[in-house]
Amino acid sequence: MSYRLPDPALAALLRDMPKAELHVHIEGTLEPELIFALAERNQVDLPYADVASLREAYAFSDLQSFLDIYYAGASVLLHEQDFYDMARAYLARAVSDHVLHAEIFFDPQTHTARGVPMASVINGLYRACRDAERDWGISCTLILCFLRHLSEDDAFRTLAQAMPLRDRFIGIGLDSSELGHPPEKFARVFAHCRELGLHLVAHAGEEGPAAYVWSALDTLQVERIDHGVQAHQDEALMQRLARERIALTVCPLSNQKLQVFPDLALHNLPQMLDAGVAVTVNSDDPAYFGGYINENFEQLFAATGMGPRQAYQLARNSLEAGFVGEARKKAWVQQLDDCFVRNGFAAAIDAG
Ligand SMILES: [Zn+2]
Repeated sequence: MSYRLPDPALAALLRDMPKAELHVHIEGTLEPELIFALAERNQVDLPYADVASLREAYAFSDLQSFLDIYYAGASVLLHEQDFYDMARAYLARAVSDHVLHAEIFFDPQTHTARGVPMASVINGLYRACRDAERDWGISCTLILCFLRHLSEDDAFRTLAQAMPLRDRFIGIGLDSSELGHPPEKFARVFAHCRELGLHLVAHAGEEGPAAYVWSALDTLQVERIDHGVQAHQDEALMQRLARERIALTVCPLSNQKLQVFPDLALHNLPQMLDAGVAVTVNSDDPAYFGGYINENFEQLFAATGMGPRQAYQLARNSLEAGFVGEARKKAWVQQLDDCFVRNGFAAAIDAG
């Protein structure tokens, strides 16, 4: 089910407002057209006849059925230029959605396990970020994610491979199949990353229970929670998230597509925002879940009936939850305020 906003002024505001994207997996931005173009360039055989049949396979029933196709799509990525092209395409989309700042997840183990050198992955993505900053003015950083269905030893080996390129990523995340792989499985490697001065985030409370959010906070000591929508089942956790202003990077269309909230109208983001939690809106794996960040905003607002006040709060939360200095955040929030004034929604700033 897809929702459309009846109010053109609100739709324009959601599109135009400056925002940050803090939860996007770069491998999840691979559009079927680019998958087939790279398959041809690299002479990789795909188990799908054409772009249309690959798109048809995107009817997922849960996280695992998505991951199976996601890893098949990533198999076309072999060379530094492939990673560059993928990130370049995403960043162009982000710029057109008025994303001022993107913190991009990448899954090196998906590639190194296939024999792709770590340097090809990181250098391709990093060069795309620097070129996008130069060409379009978007701010962009990289977060290396460990695959949680693999072992902690594998994560340690991956980190060691990435350390020669330590200056090219700012943080560490944890993603892939959540259930049965609680955060504490990665306690030692996260502690080590903390000593290295890396920022820490983790997926928790998407399909997994609120207990995984507690353990991401207390055992891994992460600074943000990716997804975290199951936190609403635990009142003490909700109070802590609000009190400590721990940002949640929520992904509405992903939640709908993977049946976390089969109907967007029943998504709990409005309640979490009302409870004072610093929720943000993000696209997760936009090529697979039916929309980039602005599509997430528009459909969520159309489905839940939220208005300009919540739009302001969500955009502001995203700009303030990034791993950047306070001066930049202040400048971005000023741009946000200017946008609301320009569009005739100054009252939403005061209310927020
Ligand atoms: Zn994710």
